[in-house]
Amino acid sequence: MKIGILKETQKGERRVSISPNIAKQLIAKGFEIFVEEDAGLKSSYKNSDYADVGVQVEKRGVLYKEAQVLLKINPFDEDDLKLVDKGQILISQLYHKSNAELIQAIAAKGATAFSLDAMPRISRAQDMDVLSSQNNLAGYKAVILGAYEMTKIFPLMMTAAGTITPSKVLIYGVGVAGLQAIATAKRLGAVVEATDIRTETKEQAQSLGAKFISVDNEGEASEGGYAKEASDEYKRKQKEAVDKSLFQADLVITTANVPGRKAPVLITEEQVLQMKNGAVIIDLAAAQGGNCEVSKMNETVILNGVKVIGTTIAPESVSTNASELFAKNIYNFLMHLIKDNAFKWDLEEEITNETLIVKEGEIRQK
Ligand code: NAD
Repeated sequence: MKIGILKETQKGERRVSISPNIAKQLIAKGFEIFVEEDAGLKSSYKNSDYADVGVQVEKRGVLYKEAQVLLKINPFDEDDLKLVDKGQILISQLYHKSNAELIQAIAAKGATAFSLDAMPRISRAQDMDVLSSQNNLAGYKAVILGAYEMTKIFPLMMTAAGTITPSKVLIYGVGVAGLQAIATAKRLGAVVEATDIRTETKEQAQSLGAKFISVDNEGEASEGGYAKEASDEYKRKQKEAVDKSLFQADLVITTANVPGRKAPVLITEEQVLQMKNGAVIIDLAAAQGGNCEVSKMNETVILNGVKVIGTTIAPESVSTNASELFAKNIYNFLMHLIKDNAFKWDLEEEITNETLIVKEGEIRQK
């Protein structure tokens, strides 16, 4: 089976869907791999790194002509679709629920498309879950960005010139990104506190050395291990429990999301006004509307001396690692879907069923 690795065209993107190391593993499994010229350059992979492991480096047009399976990180766009042929299998993130036009266009081509972001979040899909692998890096990078933006250092330091007390870091949302943010901030020596609407996260946060701020969540629903939208009563209780820590924090990292919804507002403008001068908020949910009322995606807002940075700290900022992990997720996904060099099309199976958005021109998931 021939697989094509396309160069990402989205502005600011630096990652590539398959690294040379994973391409080598695919070749060892019997696949023939093509990569678009320069696809890996911004992730530190040269064309020759791919060629050295047996990948054919070609121009874009050749990939569309030769490959049965085409791989990307970001959704296929209009330009891609002009080149797609009936019968080709596209694998990328598609965000199909908010991209109806794209899904229609893929179907009109008679192509097949799997969406990586539609991966069910069940244990056996964990090693194929691109949201987890990438969010983990975002959690790490948020702390590094915070450290850079702060006017203080993280650890306790006893020097001849005096003692520096450790910085206080507060983390909202103890999911994949939040847990990595806790671990990273702890390693740098900060005093870390964290809160989450799901009480089962308490133990996880504590095991990484954070103090967990519990908020009574009685009556709050959760589904399949994911938070649902919090009630106004919960928001009130959360403020009550967390405000003291928020107003003393040097760095706040917010990661709270509710699948399929706008991100919950956890820090209002009024609360920002009561924070310490010089404090930094990194809002990782900014792309979903933001956990902080004043944050704006890709902007730094300064309010009363508090820097509010809205960002995804897109994993592309650590594109070498992000590409390697993304590639491993795709490798595992392909191993799941393919047997004896052919797709299994096991539509009764949850992972295949939920990620297969279009099959030979027929839209299966809306
Ligand atoms: P997420 O990005 O949807 O949300 C981040 C965190 O924000 C969650 O922990 C959520 O509970 C929290 N949150 C939501 N609303 C909140 C509010 N009002 N106040 C405070 N916190 C709020 O979640 P995620 O990081 O993708 O993962 C959530 C859970 O799912 C984790 O336990 C993770 O380990 C698990 N997970 C499992 C798989 C799998 O099994 N394949 C894959 C990914 C994640």
